[in-house]
Amino acid sequence: MAEVLVLGGGVAGISAAWHADRAGREAVIFEAKQRWGGLLDHFHVDGFRFDNAVHFAFSNNEPYKKILAMTDCISHRPRPYNYEQGCWLKHPVQNNLYPLPAEEKVKAILGFIERPDQTEDPNYRQWLEQQFGKVISERFPARYTEKYWTVPSEQMGTEWIGNRLYRPSLEEVLFGAMTDQTPPTYYLPEMLYPRRGGFRTLMDPLREGLDLRTGKKAVCIDPVKRYVECSDGTKEYYHLLASSVALPDLVKMLAGVPTAVQEAAETLWATSIALVSLGFSSPKAGEHLWFYIYDQDIYPSRVHAPYRKSPDNAPHGCSSLQFEIYFSRYKPLQLEGDALVEHVITAVEKMGLASRSDIVAVDYRILPYANVVFDRGMIERRDFVLNHVRNCGILPIGRFGEWDYLWTDQSFLSGKKIEEELGKL
Ligand SMILES: Cc1cc2nc3c(=O)[nH]c(=O)nc-3n(C[C@H](O)[C@H](O)[C@H](O)COP(=O)(O)OP(=O)(O)OC[C@H]3O[C@@H](n4cnc5c(N)ncnc54)[C@H](O)[C@@H]3O)c2cc1C
Repeated sequence: MAEVLVLGGGVAGISAAWHADRAGREAVIFEAKQRWGGLLDHFHVDGFRFDNAVHFAFSNNEPYKKILAMTDCISHRPRPYNYEQGCWLKHPVQNNLYPLPAEEKVKAILGFIERPDQTEDPNYRQWLEQQFGKVISERFPARYTEKYWTVPSEQMGTEWIGNRLYRPSLEEVLFGAMTDQTPPTYYLPEMLYPRRGGFRTLMDPLREGLDLRTGKKAVCIDPVKRYVECSDGTKEYYHLLASSVALPDLVKMLAGVPTAVQEAAETLWATSIALVSLGFSSPKAGEHLWFYIYDQDIYPSRVHAPYRKSPDNAPHGCSSLQFEIYFSRYKPLQLEGDALVEHVITAVEKMGLASRSDIVAVDYRILPYANVVFDRGMIERRDFVLNHVRNCGILPIGRFGEWDYLWTDQSFLSGKKIEEELGKL
């Protein structure tokens, strides 16, 4: 019998068990995979280390900042770029139009001046046009949405935006159209990355000493008898259960779920990523730490350079790039496996990032859960499902447990919520 049983050994699960442990409770983590870390984990290919997609640390939250301070980190000043049809623009595009031809800049600026009035409860497309005007919206963020979120922007809500998209003044748009000497307006001034060991290293101080059992995949939960059954046939009884398992998957393994809740859970969906990772024998593949691609005929939407995050991620004198290609139940992959890798390598040469002959390491893999999608009405449907899970006495935690757009620090704080439940034991 576990006093506290935590499903999932990602940051949310580690955080929940760590906070329970610090409160003097016995906590056990069941992690389905053979390695812990979830999205924060990494893998090695021929001497290169790749994280599960781009990951940097940043936070305004004091408890999380204390955790970050335990690890020796490299500080990066975010200077992302955008690639569109052979042109490199500073990020965000809306106030960095400088490299575009004059007539295109004029159209974009006129569109910005004539942007429609703000309305109540706009969909994401309307919201974009209200912020940036039709020309900029259609050419950049709306096109990117179809690659990154895999649906047209009209189908999305706006609840997830927060401070993620910069809303410039007319003066900033004009300034950025006339010069490339624009000040940084990315929403973060600094991002940290561990000097050694990959992104997951940040969680090492928490993971140490925890009872974390890998290869334990929960397949069935009886919330009345309070036990979890695993794919290996074992049963574990619990007093308190926290779950970072993706909400729709959790509902499937829960006994006695009403049909309405099941139906609501089935409408929740997330994007997945096909990750293509390349190692190069040359020292400087690409010029940027990360960048976004708008072209529809180049399938990756975001690319980052692991060796620029830390030189520890590549053998001496080598470099590396990782490409994220998003897909979902609404937009299947156009190419898979070797064919997608070949597409990416062709794009590497087309964008002038590196030479094919320098490639010495290749990896292709799928991350099934990337971003939960905020299609219209999702929040209500999700909350209905979460309400049922909580009524079963289960604490949902983490990005996919709470079904939200959480950064690592927020997933950490989500796991911390277990403190409020411990009093009930
Ligand atoms: C592309 C991308 C880029 C990101 N970049 C950043 C960034 O730069 N900075 C940042 O702060 N955040 C970033 N994030 C967000 C960050 O990755 C998440 O907030 C965080 O990793 C979520 O942790 P989690 O523990 O909630 O979920 P996960 O990491 O998904 O962990 C859940 C765990 O549960 C396990 N599990 C699933 N089912 C079962 C089961 N049935 N039984 C047992 N175990 C199970 C899984 O194997 C997994 O290990 C990014 C996310 C993505 C997708």
